Amino acid sequence: MTLKAAFIGLGAMGAPMAGHLKQHGLLYAVANRTQAKAEQLARELGVTAPATLAELAPQCDVIALCVTADADVLNTVEALAPHVRPGTIVIDHSTVDPETAKKAAARLKEVGAHFLDAPVSGGVEGAKNGKLSVMVGGDANVLERARPVLESYALRVTHLGDVGAGQATKAVNQVLVAGIAQAVCEGLALGEALGLDPERLIPTLGAGAAGNWFLEKRGATMLKNEFSVGFKLSLLHKDLGIVRGIAEKAGTSRSVVERSLADYAELMKQGHGDDDISGLIRLKRAH
Ligand code: NAD
Repeated sequence: MTLKAAFIGLGAMGAPMAGHLKQHGLLYAVANRTQAKAEQLARELGVTAPATLAELAPQCDVIALCVTADADVLNTVEALAPHVRPGTIVIDHSTVDPETAKKAAARLKEVGAHFLDAPVSGGVEGAKNGKLSVMVGGDANVLERARPVLESYALRVTHLGDVGAGQATKAVNQVLVAGIAQAVCEGLALGEALGLDPERLIPTLGAGAAGNWFLEKRGATMLKNEFSVGFKLSLLHKDLGIVRGIAEKAGTSRSVVERSLADYAELMKQGHGDDDISGLIRLKRAH
């Protein structure tokens, strides 16, 4: 039986993910906080955009979310819970606290529905070309039922443990993302100050031990002061706030996290919160 899926949260990540679900014949409906955005994408994809989640919920086997932050996930789950059919699977792709995932799972359990925390990595490019890495927490049998949905936009789907384990893995991922951004932005600001040619510098660095995704995808654009695509730095700031709490409890070092929180807070204060995280190079240049 083909699954009927809905996608809620149609931003930089969610809109292309919903597009992959449509291409795989699984998408039934879309929703977004701004209804006009949902209606526009629904028209493009030839699906429905119900006016309320009460209308959307009972019609779907799987409901995927990629919204902004913890309160958005919990409010969405609260709005869905009274209306989902028992057995419905809600999958959250947003980056939130593992405790939020546990609260969402508990609320859905009360109505006989299932929850998977399934944060993603791979950036807007990964969402567009269907090559995300999905980190899943929850029941393994539920994941197997939901797998066709996840595989429509994933290169890799990994089951990491019970509910919360996906978000715990994503927290580790975000420490690496923040540290790599610190290193690449600082290095390229130095390269620029030394007058090195970006067209030779970036591929040369990328071909050796310093090569990485962020350098390859964002190196050239940051040196052209193009920061409009990708991952909003206000979202990484939100993620690192979550990571700080987790690392505090674990008692591990937070030097990358604290430095990055301070830097992104400064950029947000300067009005650059919607820039890609490569906008960090602004703080690395000589002043
Ligand atoms: P975005 O700001 O582009 O999009 C978020 C979308 O969710 C918007 O369309 C917004 O209207 C909608 N939304 C927010 N709250 C909602 C609610 N309560 N109900 C319905 N719709 C709601 O953000 P994004 O870059 O797509 O990121 C979404 C999530 O995925 C975040 O948690 C982010 O941390 C995570 N993430 C982003 C990236 C990336 O590279 N952009 C990568 C991995 C994970």
